[in-house]
Amino acid sequence: MNIIETKCLCKAYSDESGKVGAVKNIDISIEKGSFVSITGRSGSGKSTLLKMLGGLLMPTEGTVYIGGRNLYEMSEKELAAYRCNEIGFVFQDYILEETYTVSQNIEIALMIAGIPPKGRMKIIDSVLDEVGMIHKKNSRVKCLSGGEKQRVCIARAIANNPQIILADEPCGSLDYKNGRVIMELFRKLRDAGKTVILVTHILEDANMTDRIITLKDGCIIKNEDIRYSQTGI
Ligand code: ADP
Ligand code: MG
Repeated sequence: MNIIETKCLCKAYSDESGKVGAVKNIDISIEKGSFVSITGRSGSGKSTLLKMLGGLLMPTEGTVYIGGRNLYEMSEKELAAYRCNEIGFVFQDYILEETYTVSQNIEIALMIAGIPPKGRMKIIDSVLDEVGMIHKKNSRVKCLSGGEKQRVCIARAIANNPQIILADEPCGSLDYKNGRVIMELFRKLRDAGKTVILVTHILEDANMTDRIITLKDGCIIKNEDIRYSQTGI
């Protein structure tokens, strides 16, 4: 079953020199519970595509269907609920409140999602445990390493139990070892039934996913299912 489908999805940005096509006529289907990478050079349209899948950016043409629902025919309120309840975002630059503790950062997300205070601590403990950060629960974010911050971001992204995780270059600011830890966490989420979409220009990371979609100048130049080529035989 496909959880995400795009139809003739396009985004053109306007600047002084006119319109720049960042994403052009993209038709993709993403299977529920799969781990998909979107790769390509800088400027190829990866972030633009991911934002449109997440309901963060209005396409200029075409649309995105999530579980059969047309995302861009939703009202602002419905779209906000979609972003809040069905999507977990992870970005390269963390976007955490540095002076707050790990636990407080996750609590803010739960508060926004409307989870009553009583239920929050249990969720915080459970997601921090899942990413191996429970021991840093009361540490301030500014005292954490990059790899630890990104694990907190993943904990926050999954706190509201979304079906889809969207990650834009999550290992881009990390060293090799920490990058591996993050990739393993995404695989674990996929194994638990989540649909994970990862934007990356790191080939080794893309090779750890089920499908690699390659963009060039806003178009798909390759869309490969690599699930059965990972066994090394
Ligand atoms: P990638 O994530 O692959 O590096 P982006 O999706 O960020 O690519 O950008 C695709 C193209 O769209 C690039 O040419 C970029 O300069 C342009 N672009 C991205 N965001 C904007 C914006 N807000 N305004 C104008 N042009 C943009
Ligand atoms: Mg980008």
